[in-house]
Amino acid sequence: MTAADPSLEDLSRTEFAELLDGEPAYRLGQVWDGLYRQRRPLAELSNVPKALRHAIGDLLPDALTLVRSQSADRGSTTKHLWSLRDGHLVESVLMRYRNRTTLCISSQAGCAMACSFCATGQVGFDRNLTVGEMVSQVLGTLQHSDSADQAINSGAASGRAINIVFMGMGEPLANYDAVWAAVERFHGDMGVGARHITISTVGVIPGIVRLAAAPLPVNLAVSLHAANDRLRNRIAPINRTYPLRDLARVLADYRRAKRRRISFEWAMISGVNDRDSDAAELAAYARPLAAHVNLIPLNPTPGYGHTPSTAERIEHFADRLASHGVNATVRANRGTSIDAACGQLRADKQVSIQRRSRPARRDERTRIER
Ligand code: SAH
Repeated sequence: MTAADPSLEDLSRTEFAELLDGEPAYRLGQVWDGLYRQRRPLAELSNVPKALRHAIGDLLPDALTLVRSQSADRGSTTKHLWSLRDGHLVESVLMRYRNRTTLCISSQAGCAMACSFCATGQVGFDRNLTVGEMVSQVLGTLQHSDSADQAINSGAASGRAINIVFMGMGEPLANYDAVWAAVERFHGDMGVGARHITISTVGVIPGIVRLAAAPLPVNLAVSLHAANDRLRNRIAPINRTYPLRDLARVLADYRRAKRRRISFEWAMISGVNDRDSDAAELAAYARPLAAHVNLIPLNPTPGYGHTPSTAERIEHFADRLASHGVNATVRANRGTSIDAACGQLRADKQVSIQRRSRPARRDERTRIER
């Protein structure tokens, strides 16, 4: 069995239907509803004959194996570490709020974008994830958290709207086709509204152009972090290929095509991008696009020495943006204690295990920083 063999979640409904040759017509709906509406594992679909469940399971083996799950924020944030069939590791994060559940999933094992402050970028790129590997992160997380809640009907999903955000490891627009197929599965088969699906990009222009022409109005978030090319080239090197001016042009086209508000992510890094002059530059960039700004206090990562801006500085920065006519929200960080917050995913079993003892953690950090 290799990573190339499809899993059940790699197949669209139409592709799966072809495998059900000779089964009664209602079988397809039974399996599909069980998997995507009730979100139950194939093995538990007791209205489907056991022999058929086994045959499907043998032909289309699981894409992911859960290696570990860790919780923080009094159980409201859970990070899952998954092993892919070829041994690569990815992470996804579940965040529960009062009336919604947000699932943050990975689109690649590692990332080639090399943003200096991002843990995934520091590790480098392994490979694109398949549709099945992305869809399985969502279904697996919901099933796991539902069973952790001990009752399928009071679990993570029920009663709360689900948001799916491509904000885990990887650059989704560098894996466009598989990401879009996953979006269609979430929307068409699971019934998640396009407005509850967010694709976050560092600014991969060809992907944004394709997204503008795609049928569903999903949310677009752009990880900006700097509004002048000199600084952005340094902290998000893809800016050398897709500089700010070109990015603004395609974002304006996107907005016109979709009539959707774009949002900018801005990690607040003390002394780097949190000065009044940075706020003025950001406002000048964001205002013509009517973009909303999300301010995220920088999360610590092993390979980046800078510190987050203080809470006062972030408030002040938001006020400066407001005075320039730009709306900003300060994001509360979730899951920092388990390295599950924005930019902290790196799917490294070893580091997390070593982190149980404090001195080892410090050694590990110095080693990586050198
Ligand atoms: N590659 C995509 C998806 C990653 S989303 C993108 O760049 O948008 C992860 C988000 O967390 C991005 O906005 C990213 O810029 C941000 N981020 C990365 N490292 C961070 C850190 N150390 N602190 C806060 N946010 C960070």
